[in-house]
Amino acid sequence: MKIIVKCIFIVLFISSSIVIKAQNTITAEVIKISNKFYKIVCKNTRNYTANTLAYVGEEGILLIDAGYLETAEELLSKIETLGNGKLKILINTHLHLDHTGGNKLLANDSVIIIAHENVKKHLQGFYGQIRNVSPEALPDITFEDSYSVYFNNEEIKLLYFPGHTDGDIIVYFTASKIAFLGDLLLTNGFPSVESNAGGNIEQYIRSVRKILTFFPEDTRFIAGHGRDYTLDEMKQYYNMIINTTNTIRQGLKEGKDASIMIKENILRKWNVKVTNGPTADYWIGAVVASLTNKNTNPSIAEPLLNTLIKRNASAAINQYREFKKNKFNNYNFNENALNVLGYYLLGKNRVEEAIKILKLNVEEYPKAFNVYDSLGEAYMKYGDKKRAIKNYKISLVLNPDNINAVQMLKKLKRN
Ligand SMILES: [Zn+2]
Repeated sequence: MKIIVKCIFIVLFISSSIVIKAQNTITAEVIKISNKFYKIVCKNTRNYTANTLAYVGEEGILLIDAGYLETAEELLSKIETLGNGKLKILINTHLHLDHTGGNKLLANDSVIIIAHENVKKHLQGFYGQIRNVSPEALPDITFEDSYSVYFNNEEIKLLYFPGHTDGDIIVYFTASKIAFLGDLLLTNGFPSVESNAGGNIEQYIRSVRKILTFFPEDTRFIAGHGRDYTLDEMKQYYNMIINTTNTIRQGLKEGKDASIMIKENILRKWNVKVTNGPTADYWIGAVVASLTNKNTNPSIAEPLLNTLIKRNASAAINQYREFKKNKFNNYNFNENALNVLGYYLLGKNRVEEAIKILKLNVEEYPKAFNVYDSLGEAYMKYGDKKRAIKNYKISLVLNPDNINAVQMLKKLKRN
């Protein structure tokens, strides 16, 4: 989970549990699921736990998630007692440091690290949240939608299910019917959606809904934190997410902000047992942040527009990349920003520069239909009919309801 959540927990912990503080030692508890699967629960000095899963066989060990950096030594010592003790593959379910922190110690020349491409970007500091991750701790293999690993005679599917962050994956053992859900499932408290790591409540709900129909009835669902769930329990979990989100949405409609909803304890009727996991208060704040897209930062378009007025598109593009890396938390980098600038340049007849800016937007938001539509228009104005048609067609694939693209394609094919 994310840094801010942890801070809240630390404060609560310090204020309520000073008495037992001295007892907190690092542990890595091995729970045997079968001859092939061992869940290893890492507990750090602050009493937080994070789950990892070791899959053991002839070819060696595949490990899902690396726990905290501070528990990595203990984790490694336990892995060395399993099978032939040789860790070969390490998979990170998402970027958070209770799942990737141990990479640094677990990684060596014979270990391959696999994660979603957004996890690598976060760990490289691309979004300005996590810094100073050593190169050996970065994923060696990344992917976009899905990736299959064949190891110890089983196909292991890595599937993109975003929502908690923008880089969540589910690791599914197709023959053993075990699905490691990472932080899409938390059974030690309320769920977690981290807007500042690209998480989104709507996407999260879609992902959890998809889990309910995607996996066989007898799948074992392993949470990022807490005990395992059955499919029936997953269904209850989904209902809790839907109902609590609707309650919070209703609160917003009634003009309440997160602090009022917390004060009114609006989620009291959900009996979620919280054991060092996210609290109801956290969940209210997280859902409100996601629903209201509380990015009150100024748009990145503001400083870039100045650069476009004084200089040119290339300078603005360099500035964009530099700010995204170093000032990500100070600006709002939504798809609209570059789009607005593209149209500003088109309006000034600086068409070649508009194309450069809109191409960057496509690079940044490759799944947004509108960015292709805009780039199509710029190419049309530039007289590059072929590229205009291509971009309008992509836009239409991404959003078949884009009537403007249909009309533009007709026009382009007529001329
Ligand atoms: Zn997390």
